Amino acid sequence: MSYEEYKKEIVEVARKAYARGLVPGSSGNISMKMPDTDLVMIKASGVPFRDMTEDDIVTMDLDGNVVEGSKKPSKEFRFHLGIYRVRADVGAVLHVHSPFATLYAVLGRPIPLVAVQAEARVCSTPVVDFAPAGSEKLAEMVINAYRDQKTNVILLRNHGVVIAEKDLREALNLAETIEDTALIAAFYEIISGLQKEK
Ligand SMILES: [Zn+2]
Repeated sequence: MSYEEYKKEIVEVARKAYARGLVPGSSGNISMKMPDTDLVMIKASGVPFRDMTEDDIVTMDLDGNVVEGSKKPSKEFRFHLGIYRVRADVGAVLHVHSPFATLYAVLGRPIPLVAVQAEARVCSTPVVDFAPAGSEKLAEMVINAYRDQKTNVILLRNHGVVIAEKDLREALNLAETIEDTALIAAFYEIISGLQKEK
């Protein structure tokens, strides 16, 4: 695939993530590592997934230098690049604020993997302590959590979700599965709690 084709794919996945309600407003960020290179394409800062075009993509090397594109990279570029540095198996990173998964991030609890479709894809959803969005501290904690080779989803305390997968399509699939699992888990916990009260 050419650079232009990769950019098209990023935009397409970003718009699908927006349409699915995973990234309200101008929140969230998305990146992919170009196969067989040390180059990462990442969304520019402050651009909603909804309106994103190929011009809103910045190319960076793994050391954090911008090598192509005139815009400022997403403020979370540190953890995107860091995940690729520690995980050769990861080809795409998606950070979303989907509401039910974020509910568990606010509670500070891993999402109960109540349905088999989640259990098949995810071992657990560890929660990383709170640190301000875009901070070096947050990046450091996210990267550390991803040193575990089994990790493909983490929750950011009081904030959202970071998904790492082999490619963009799989990252989007997993973000959707995680959001639905969190919704089912939340209702399961409410309903089973009410039944116990009876
Ligand atoms: Zn965020």
